[in-house]
Amino acid sequence: MRTRSEVEQAAHLLGDERWKVWMNCGIHDWRALPETDSGEHYCPKCWTLWTSDGAILHVPDQPPMKKKE
Ligand SMILES: [Zn+2]
Repeated sequence: MRTRSEVEQAAHLLGDERWKVWMNCGIHDWRALPETDSGEHYCPKCWTLWTSDGAILHVPDQPPMKKKE
């Protein structure tokens, strides 16, 4: 079982890639996702966290669009 800080660290490590993973995940069934030791749910792909009430805790930021040259 993971701790909330481990999930947050994993999300941080994904960086800009996290946005792509999040988009691939689509809609999360947060109730079916694994839980941290402090009772939040997390997605093991994009490392997003939900509280035990289903409030989303950190949605990934869309990275700035790369300009075409
Ligand atoms: Zn996800």
